[in-house]
Amino acid sequence: RGAFIAQRDLRDFEQHLAAFTGARYALGVSNATDGLHIALRAAGIGPGDEVIFCSHTMVATAAAIHFAGATPVPVECGPDHLMDPAAAAAAVTPRTRAIMPTQLNGRTCDMDALQAIADKYGLLIIEDAAQALGSRFKGRQAGTFGIAGAISFYPAKTLGCLGDGGAVLTNDEDMRRKMFLLRDHGRDESGEVVMWGLNTRLDNLQAAILDYKLARYDQEIARRREIASLYQKLLQDVGELVLPPAPDSDPDHFDIYQNYEIEAERRDDLRAYLNEHGIGTLIQWGGKAVHQFEKLGFKVSLPYTERMFTRCLMLPMNRSLSNEDVEYVCQTIRQFYGYR
Ligand SMILES: *Cc1c(COP(=O)(O)O)cnc(C)c1O
Repeated sequence: RGAFIAQRDLRDFEQHLAAFTGARYALGVSNATDGLHIALRAAGIGPGDEVIFCSHTMVATAAAIHFAGATPVPVECGPDHLMDPAAAAAAVTPRTRAIMPTQLNGRTCDMDALQAIADKYGLLIIEDAAQALGSRFKGRQAGTFGIAGAISFYPAKTLGCLGDGGAVLTNDEDMRRKMFLLRDHGRDESGEVVMWGLNTRLDNLQAAILDYKLARYDQEIARRREIASLYQKLLQDVGELVLPPAPDSDPDHFDIYQNYEIEAERRDDLRAYLNEHGIGTLIQWGGKAVHQFEKLGFKVSLPYTERMFTRCLMLPMNRSLSNEDVEYVCQTIRQFYGYR
């Protein structure tokens, strides 16, 4: 149809995504990083402002804050690997304007705790929900708590397209309007340029592919939760490991297991052993929290997060795994630590 940019398929997908997440508005963008960037700009955050983020995240979270002109302030994660609310509260200064929690590994933060901090100090919440489409806290979906949230459709995400893609969610009409303009050269529906804007659109073709996949997305989540249950069942007695929260361990959380991130004693030896047995694993972000990338100039130490990064490891988690594959992974881990 020659429908390349901002055509019907994009509008359909945006509607279906809004309905799926329960957000009032969803807007397709080029990628989640740009989504976070335009959300910050639309919220009026810029030079002189500080934004608190959890250092266990992709550099993209901090980069979005940086390119909005504000200062990214990294804080510790907690035992569930998500932003530690106490650390976030302790990092608030008179310049703090917002908290940007990452809904990491497909799990949503305790948003009551973060909202209480935001209320107390008059801060905005903008969620990095890049890894968390469909994840819920107390029944509400990741990306819909704050003034805006960004989702990623990078191919390795739970809902991946065939290239780069993302979306921003918001319940706020003014935010929707500003982000709509910011993503397309500041142009309104008639083509009139009403402000300075960027070019950060989701391609129509990618939107059509995503729309097709979104209709089947519940199966993706269900299978990932099944695999997580199997890992839990087969590894829970291994004392050398800390497993992520099990799928039904807490009624407040519904996790979608973008990743299955464990902590392990003798992590590097375990990883080498698994590799020798044909099992690929990953360490998130190349093995460093954001504040540990020296060239970025952060001058903090976050001991809890740094120790966690000597221990964390992601086990295989995707829909191509059979139950036998998962059993083989678990059996190999058990062998390594000397369990039957
Ligand atoms: C993937 C990811 C991003 C970036 O998403 P893009 O769509 O590639 O820009 C940001 N934050 C987190 C936590 C991610 O996992």
